[in-house]
Amino acid sequence: MQPRIGFVGLGIMGSGMAKNLARRGYAVRVWNRSRERARAVGLPTAESPRALAEQSDVVVSCVADPAAVERVVFAEDGVLAAARAGFSYVECSTVSPELVRRAALAFAEKGAAMLEAPVTGSKLAAENGTLLFMTGGPAEVHARLEPILLAMGTRAIYCGIAGHGALMKLVGNTLISFMLEGLCEGLLVARKGGLEVDKVLEVIAASGFQSPYYAFKGPAIRDRNFDTQFSIDLLVKDQNLMLAEAAAQPTPLPGLAAIREVFQSARAQGLGGQDIAAVIRALESAAGINL
Ligand code: NAP
Repeated sequence: MQPRIGFVGLGIMGSGMAKNLARRGYAVRVWNRSRERARAVGLPTAESPRALAEQSDVVVSCVADPAAVERVVFAEDGVLAAARAGFSYVECSTVSPELVRRAALAFAEKGAAMLEAPVTGSKLAAENGTLLFMTGGPAEVHARLEPILLAMGTRAIYCGIAGHGALMKLVGNTLISFMLEGLCEGLLVARKGGLEVDKVLEVIAASGFQSPYYAFKGPAIRDRNFDTQFSIDLLVKDQNLMLAEAAAQPTPLPGLAAIREVFQSARAQGLGGQDIAAVIRALESAAGINL
């Protein structure tokens, strides 16, 4: 029999993910902090994360940040309060490895299972069901829950013990930070020197500089399409998580520390809710030129 699924967090990512689970035939119930968003997906709702867990065999969560996960899991009416033998929790939010390990331990103490499964692929991949998951936790839990992940995505790569998925995700978003910063800086210097944005993107696409990421964000920057796929606020959250992880090891990250300040200046200019491509605006004002 198919497990009953509870889905927590119906933001940009979660709303597409929950709908895809329902499309694949799972019975899905949802909870979201603000009720309007919960109602908007058109699936049955629960009163609290705890009530959702009581009515589900597996709860999948995709919420903003560590504070949101603390609330969803550990609050009095949180998922953990209803955890029991046979119950599973899947954490898809990007949070710290430490929080993942703490949650995994808490679920294990209740005889329940937890798999972390942070995702890559943005709003479109969440809507199309083409996300990539990077998982951490017991290998048998990955194997058992993989069909649920593959109802929302195309691949789930097992990374290792609890916390390794989060670590991998932070490495990925560090790469995104460098790539976006590099593209924006390059475009500005090219433009000031009289080289067309289209020409720069054409050469990048045809060469070893190429990446699907540039095919995604390059045209968005050129066309000034800053509709939020992934917000600057959430990328800075991930940069901070990576810097904190590195500081604890300790490992110096001079490149990411500098790039974080650029994204921070975009937030200071009121751009935090916009797509990460809008970081070009902060760099444009520093350079005194618009692309
Ligand atoms: P989003 O659109 O901002 O949605 C955030 C969700 O978290 C909303 O459902 C929000 O509820 C909920 N939330 C925030 N604070 C909360 C709290 N204190 N308690 C309970 N719920 C809370 O974010 P998103 O883009 O979907 O991202 C979700 C997660 O996926 C993040 O960890 C992000 O880093 C990660 N991620 C995002 C992308 C992307 O491209 N967007 C890609 C990969 C991974 P309300 O509706 O009430 O505000």
